[in-house]
Amino acid sequence: MSEIVVVFDFDKTIVDCDSDNWVIDELGFTDLFNQLLPTMPWNSLMDKMMMELHSNGKTIEDVEEVLHRIPIHPRVIPAIKAAHALGCELRIVSDANMFFIESILKHLGIREYFSEINTNPGYVNEEGRLRILPYHDFNKASHGCSLCPPNMCKGLIIERIQKSISEEEKKRFIYLGDGSGDYCPSLRLKEKDFMMPRKNFPVWDLICKDPLLVKAEIHGWSDGEELEQVLLQLINKISMEENALFISSDCKLQTLSVSAHEALPKVLPVRP
Ligand SMILES: [Mg+2]
Ligand SMILES: [Zn+2]
Repeated sequence: MSEIVVVFDFDKTIVDCDSDNWVIDELGFTDLFNQLLPTMPWNSLMDKMMMELHSNGKTIEDVEEVLHRIPIHPRVIPAIKAAHALGCELRIVSDANMFFIESILKHLGIREYFSEINTNPGYVNEEGRLRILPYHDFNKASHGCSLCPPNMCKGLIIERIQKSISEEEKKRFIYLGDGSGDYCPSLRLKEKDFMMPRKNFPVWDLICKDPLLVKAEIHGWSDGEELEQVLLQLINKISMEENALFISSDCKLQTLSVSAHEALPKVLPVRP
């Protein structure tokens, strides 16, 4: 049973660019995108852009080919695999879409490391066109959060995940993100949790304005290498703390927790 839930943003956190911009730019639709951006919400524009791609003869295979060569820092996949091997539960909360995220993760061979992906629905319709829909149906009711775009409040998603985990389990969250949409969830984290904002990106700037608003411990990172170092250090720190409690409550379980540590890479020395 894992005591740590690691929540990853996707764009500029797992992959090293914005997947929406990457697809639009690589297929040569940047000008149209920039022209339409002031006229509608990002999420609706992405759906419209997929229609434009389709009517200009770009197939779903063209989109997938572009997704499969999206830039990713070489230390991010090892970091994800190590966190999983250390027993963490991994989730994604992203304002990209399910089609892009699953195509990329499956291509990289890391889809199965994540227990849940919370993102905007994305699917290929009967005409072979990709449809991208809002996560929250804002035609029915607004999510009521002034910090977030109309299609998705990541804070509400974090709140749901927190509620779905029973209090007795005492799970601790580590949240990684870069964008302004990652600020709302950072405000929902508790004292025992950790926020990992990407340094000098929008969420970092928002946190720096008044760091005391974030109850979680803040640990910045700037690239995939630092993401890996900081994430594994935090997991290790939490595991040591939890094991200390565990051992003091039942000495017989000490061997169990020690052997679990020995099998794993990059851990600090185990207490005697
Ligand atoms: Mg992002
Ligand atoms: Zn929000």
